[in-house]
Amino acid sequence: MPLQSLKVNEIFYSLQGEGPLTGTAAVFLRLAGCSMGCSFCDTQYAAAQGTDMPLPDIIAALEQYPCRNVIITGGEPTEQNFAPLAHALKRRGWTVQMESNGAQDADVSNIDFLVVSPKKHVCKDMLQKAHCIKIVVDQDTPLETIATYFPYANARTAVCLQPCSNKQENIDLCVKLIKQNPFLRLSLQMHKLAHIR
Ligand code: SF4
Repeated sequence: MPLQSLKVNEIFYSLQGEGPLTGTAAVFLRLAGCSMGCSFCDTQYAAAQGTDMPLPDIIAALEQYPCRNVIITGGEPTEQNFAPLAHALKRRGWTVQMESNGAQDADVSNIDFLVVSPKKHVCKDMLQKAHCIKIVVDQDTPLETIATYFPYANARTAVCLQPCSNKQENIDLCVKLIKQNPFLRLSLQMHKLAHIR
């Protein structure tokens, strides 16, 4: 049987810059490809550029760092068969996080922390599985759309508003909405503010 491989854009070691786990060390596995085509995407390069890597090579590349916390991101990881890798990493003692647009349902049984950031459309099953729903907010985001995610906020699932591109007008809007709906949280792109790579 041929070795399974995934199309990888990059692997790097840094700090989580967004969401409830901001500031924690993690190895990032950025998979290639995303068919959503958002105009504000800050990883568009990942949609096109990728190299096929067999799973053992991916694991070896991840394990060169002194950290056993991986964030599988993209691009959009659910557009590839990431589940066998997640399973293998769990067996090796890793904490496995994943960031997804949630557009299609996926087997996240080996994902310890799932962040879903809905874009043009989202699968309700993925919203229910999420530990964090991260909503990118700009001046054009309909408030009715943001409000559709409010019922998912509970002790297990954080619903975070993330100002698009850290723009002040978007930060101000998010702060206003969080003050009105105190079960929400603010997610700034800390890595961009702090120039962390
Ligand atoms: S879903 Fe995410 S990765 Fe895909 S185009 Fe939109 S912002 Fe970029």
